[in-house]
Amino acid sequence: MHLFMTETFQDMGLSQPVFDAISDLGYINPTPIQQQAIPVLLKGTKDFVGLAQTGTGKTAAFGLPLLSLIDTSIKLVQGLVICPTRELCIQIDKDFDDYGKYMEDFHHVAVYGGSSIDNQIRQIKKGVQIVVATPGRLIDLIERKAIKLDSVTHVVLDEADEMLNMGFKEDIDHILSHATARQAAWLFSATMPKAVKRISETFMNNPVEVKVNSELTAKNIKHVYYQCQSHHKYETLKRLIDVNPGMYGIVFTRTRAEAQDITEKLLKEGYEIDALHGDLSQQQRDKVMSRFRDKTIKLLIATDVAARGIDVDSITHVINYALPDETEIYTHRSGRTARAGKSGVCISILHTREMGKLRDIEFMTKSKFEKLDIPSGREVCEKQFFSFIEKLKKSDISHGDYENYLPYLNEQFADMSKDEVIQRVASLEFNRFLEYYEKAGDLNSSDNRGRQGNYSRLFISLGEKDGFYKAAFLEFLLDTTGHTKAQLGKIELMDAYSFVEVDNNIATEFIAAFSGKKFRGREIKIELSGERSGGGGGFDRGGNRNRSGGGRGSYGGGGGGGTYNRSERRSSDRSGAGSGRSYGGDRDGGGRKDSGPYKKKY
Ligand code: AMP
Repeated sequence: MHLFMTETFQDMGLSQPVFDAISDLGYINPTPIQQQAIPVLLKGTKDFVGLAQTGTGKTAAFGLPLLSLIDTSIKLVQGLVICPTRELCIQIDKDFDDYGKYMEDFHHVAVYGGSSIDNQIRQIKKGVQIVVATPGRLIDLIERKAIKLDSVTHVVLDEADEMLNMGFKEDIDHILSHATARQAAWLFSATMPKAVKRISETFMNNPVEVKVNSELTAKNIKHVYYQCQSHHKYETLKRLIDVNPGMYGIVFTRTRAEAQDITEKLLKEGYEIDALHGDLSQQQRDKVMSRFRDKTIKLLIATDVAARGIDVDSITHVINYALPDETEIYTHRSGRTARAGKSGVCISILHTREMGKLRDIEFMTKSKFEKLDIPSGREVCEKQFFSFIEKLKKSDISHGDYENYLPYLNEQFADMSKDEVIQRVASLEFNRFLEYYEKAGDLNSSDNRGRQGNYSRLFISLGEKDGFYKAAFLEFLLDTTGHTKAQLGKIELMDAYSFVEVDNNIATEFIAAFSGKKFRGREIKIELSGERSGGGGGFDRGGNRNRSGGGRGSYGGGGGGGTYNRSERRSSDRSGAGSGRSYGGDRDGGGRKDSGPYKKKY
């Protein structure tokens, strides 16, 4: 179908007050989804399906025509916008404040859970033309007869795929069945799974379908990745934060526990961050979000679910602490940056085994990911140093009565040269930082190095003779040890015995898990095969059999870790009684307390 395309808002047919309002906002050219949606939606009677992600300007794509169409002389609900989360609901409502600021007698309300329903009912009773709602709360209001939808002419389903993912299918069906006077339904979704298609087929009449090319919308995002060994992920994250002093971003984790774990560690080390995950109450989430919006905190550590609906424009970085399993989630995550015409970086921290997943995402998103080297300690220090000097130079001394203190300051520094004063200021800021990074090693791991350094090769006295084939053997190993497939490397199943590669971090536990175990009445023998996988170095069997010990089981300083001295790292010690200066991968804080670089700075 031919779509009328315009280059500017001027001749699109928006109402004058709406046009004036967006001029104030500095919107000059419509984004692709706006170009394609607005002329269709302004007709008022056409159903519409827009495939567009957050950050493409989709709120204005439906908001501007919706506001242009409603009749403010009538105090009845005419427009209904349904969206998945409270955050998005508030954001849309706020955008409507902006778009409708020149509209006389325009009233709208946001209704969502986790906030007083009585206040919302009071606002509705005053008379509103547009309601922005999350499904659950809206149903609640319908059931209390606090809202009637029989005057609604236009219904918008925003982020329809998210709503269905969150299990709102029945609620949406129910709500749509109440909007009996509907003239048009407009559905926006980042993706078009079957369930969304079904909604469009059931409730819409021959809708106009528009898809904005995600390449087009995501062109300002640079996709990069860093590769490290899995136990260096946390340390790598810290370096990336430290080497980007202006970073304002979101770190995505797979689980709440991981988000909590990283948050606790970073907080302990003085970083200005907070967690956003499902265990928080609504009040706590609001508090975190408001601190993030006003930039009191520069980084959110978030799970995908909790980060839904986060709509902050100036995010510079999105970090995948682990890659998501689905490409769609990657796209959602990366779409949090490079919004409103800005550019952004989406960083993935990978261990060697995640490369396959990365290639899949590259293929699906048709983006090329650039591999970057994890910065060295020296690079981090230099970056911080330059940033500090810049800040010092730019610091505003026009306010405050510094002049009154000048005589005193001059007196105090009378015996010091300018050079010395500068050095002292710098050392005050940097000594901790320099000290921290002084001995920092190379965290980069190429496929090969990662593999060599990462695994211990174990001999096990079980083989094909015992009735195993590979898959069954793997299952047996995982059942016996409680570890995951990702922690194992190559399995070589011979006739009477086998060799299994296991992640160095779990080698001790893995061996110990077989202690005293028998298979068909025969005791299972398991030991390090003598020859380490790739890298050299010995294996202190005594130490490593000790599961609870302060385990300095020296795996040897073999392959891959650069200057990193493995014998200094806690090996299998989970009790936190580690051996002091663990600059990397120090999971439980067994290393230096308060060891963070450069407090409260990035
Ligand atoms: P959205 O996809 O609706 O979340 O919008 C992303 C951001 O782009 C929001 O901050 C909007 O204010 C901004 N925006 C939307 N349309 C335009 C436009 N035509 N020109 C400039 N900025 C826009």
